[in-house]
Amino acid sequence: MPNTLPASIVIPVYNEEMNLPRLFDEIAQAMRPLSRAWEVVFVDDGSSDHSLEVLMRLAKDNAEVRYLAFTRNRGQSAAFCAGFDNATHPVVVTLDADLQNDPADIPAMLALFDQGFDMAIGWRKKRQDTWSKRIGSKIGNAIRNSLTRESVRDTGCSLKVMRRDMLLRIPRFKGMHRYLPTLMKLQGARVAEAPVNHRERFTGVSKYSNWQRALVGIRDLFGVRWLQDRHFSYEIREKNR
Ligand code: UDP
Ligand code: MG
Repeated sequence: MPNTLPASIVIPVYNEEMNLPRLFDEIAQAMRPLSRAWEVVFVDDGSSDHSLEVLMRLAKDNAEVRYLAFTRNRGQSAAFCAGFDNATHPVVVTLDADLQNDPADIPAMLALFDQGFDMAIGWRKKRQDTWSKRIGSKIGNAIRNSLTRESVRDTGCSLKVMRRDMLLRIPRFKGMHRYLPTLMKLQGARVAEAPVNHRERFTGVSKYSNWQRALVGIRDLFGVRWLQDRHFSYEIREKNR
């Protein structure tokens, strides 16, 4: 793909009202100097706070802001997928809404992607999370990598850059956002990793506990391993039209 393709920044939002204006400001600061068209697609995952009103206000003041809102909470994977479906640009950047990912890292991640990769994954070198979350994530990554025969440093980092046409072909299920590198590799994606900044949640609370994540995570892990083992690809030798 030629470089500097336009990018859609997809952000799942579940009760993040106080984070959104600052998040958009930081994204705009990072993106405006680039010679690349961009938009932000906020996906309100059935928030019960004023997130949607804040998004409406942001959209009124900024042409780059698009939003859609679910009728009720459907989970982070569903929110990401709705963003992929509704994005208008060929490159998708994903980010969390709580400012833990640093929008200032987006230009470097796009530059890495532009070197000829189909996916660039952030790796949170210095996690700003609780001790238990850091341990949980270490164990999670190790188990995930061993069962899926991968060596991804940090699949849980939401800061990623991906080709939208590939994202539209991967299997969809609750929790799939934790397996995006594996699912993209099954589509033939060339994947690169780079260290990114990580910060404390700006306001609001985390939506997950280690227990929740571990319990569904184990079930998903076997599902993903099954998908890998049963995956097929094909090459067409001839075709008339
Ligand atoms: N999120 C969502 N739907 C959910 C749970 C979370 O859209 O059901 C969003 C949330 O608003 C945030 C991102 O997913 O933008 C990651 O959530 P969180 O920061 O709570 O996860 P953590 O960083 O604690 O793992
Ligand atoms: Mg977070």
